[in-house]
Amino acid sequence: MAPEAKEIIFRSKLPDIYIPKHLPLHSYCFENISTFKTRPCLINGATGQVHTYADVELTSRKVASALHHQQGINKGDVIMILLPNSPEFVFSFLAASYLGAVSTMANPFFTPAEITKQAKASDTKLIITQASHVPKVKDYASDNSIKIVCIDTAPESCIPFTELLSGDETKLPEVEISSDDVVALPYSSGTTGLPKGVMLTHKGLVTSVAQQVDGENPNLWIHSEDVMICVLPLFHIYSLNSILLCGLRTGAGILIMQKFDIVPFLELVERYKVTIGPFVPPIVLAIANNEEVVDRYDMKSMRTVMSGAAPLGKELEDTVRRKFPNAKLGQGYGMTEAGPVLAMCLAFAKEPFEIKSGACGTVVRNAEMKIVDPETGLSLPRNQRGEICIRGDQIMKGYLNDPESTKATIDLDGWLHTGDIGLIDDDDELFIVDRLKELIKYKGFQVAPAELEALLLTHPDISDAAVVPMVSEAAGEVPVAFVVKINDSSVTEDDIKQFVSKQVVFYKRINRVFFIDSIPKSPSGKILRKELRAKLAAGVPN
Ligand code: AMP
Repeated sequence: MAPEAKEIIFRSKLPDIYIPKHLPLHSYCFENISTFKTRPCLINGATGQVHTYADVELTSRKVASALHHQQGINKGDVIMILLPNSPEFVFSFLAASYLGAVSTMANPFFTPAEITKQAKASDTKLIITQASHVPKVKDYASDNSIKIVCIDTAPESCIPFTELLSGDETKLPEVEISSDDVVALPYSSGTTGLPKGVMLTHKGLVTSVAQQVDGENPNLWIHSEDVMICVLPLFHIYSLNSILLCGLRTGAGILIMQKFDIVPFLELVERYKVTIGPFVPPIVLAIANNEEVVDRYDMKSMRTVMSGAAPLGKELEDTVRRKFPNAKLGQGYGMTEAGPVLAMCLAFAKEPFEIKSGACGTVVRNAEMKIVDPETGLSLPRNQRGEICIRGDQIMKGYLNDPESTKATIDLDGWLHTGDIGLIDDDDELFIVDRLKELIKYKGFQVAPAELEALLLTHPDISDAAVVPMVSEAAGEVPVAFVVKINDSSVTEDDIKQFVSKQVVFYKRINRVFFIDSIPKSPSGKILRKELRAKLAAGVPN
């Protein structure tokens, strides 16, 4: 773009705020702890056990001390947290932050191959997990001298988490943490290709949390009497940031639930008088589909219901409005690489604004957003569709060891290109209307087509393959494969589905396989995914 061309930039309707970007993440989260030290911080929904704020701060420091003195973890080292939602997840993440170390979070349901890939790519030094997942990591760990810490009954050769609780909190190593140091390393495929390590810094996460909850009239108003239900997995940045870190910063109670099941969920909401429900559309759908069950519980405590990670349809919004009569409902829009929150609905502000159904918020404070024409790169005015780009201190530092992919995602002017197509209307509200990038979202979980295509190509009967999303009511999207068979191979749809299932976590399983003569490609060899998506839209091929 010519330098003299004027860019059209959108900002929040709320004024910018002061953000203490110099603070390491843990210091920022606990900055105001003296006012809520004795309040419940983590409530374990399964056991009822409560950890106060004072408890959580102290335990995290003990774990940090033990990780350093007993297990040799130093500044810059990577630990893998391979856990479901649990207090130990939180202690481990905060402990790493105290040490200037990095947490890479992985889905505990990953297969051994998926875990190994992430552990290897991130150069993980120590894995914190639970006994049932040890068999999946044991071999890789022993071959590479990686220690395994177990939060429950530790099998032989693993370190029990209780040992870390004996760390001396007064003997934390003196480390200088710079605001540009990486603290979290989630994996995401971004706009294209395989999952990559997303380097989120102390400054980035502090900025992102502040954009949501700091200031006089925050985007997301949370206070220390609030109870937030944490049912979304903490290994995903949405939950880690918008529930855990935002909760810690504001002194709210964080009610931990490992897995969503409608009845236990409703019981917990009623019992603990949950006030804030951060959800994804499939949870909203489950609530809508179980109206009779929901009606048996008292949901009046809920004052904020937010949905993010995938689009939420209007009918669903309407049902949920009926079910949570006292709640403001709205959407947020996130992307791991963006830190992750780009936009948030201003119905959650302390002095709320009117919002439109289907909007996924307005850009957060202290950030800039533009909508660019993907062909020309020019920024577009209101009401015109284009690629959503964001700039600000909250975005990732880059992809780990991958300058090429970083350059393709963050341009020279610091704009992060999301690969999402949207528009901003006359009231500054953002609507996502399409996706330019390859990504498939199953119930909010990422499925990278490139990963499944690479796997399919290892099958001896497949000569070419392409994976695209197919719309599904229950999951939002499911991956389906277009496959070219080798010569006269008699391989069947089921054979291929099983071949993939054995090697991937449940949500990456191929839902349908369509045999095809050739995969449509551009002259440069790029899969023309749009054509395949159009085939599906025209009706499922036979
Ligand atoms: P992840 O990095 O896993 O958080 O996935 C980010 C992607 O999820 C975004 O780039 C969008 O494509 C999609 N997404 C997130 N929030 C929303 C939303 N509210 N509406 C539609 N799509 C969304």
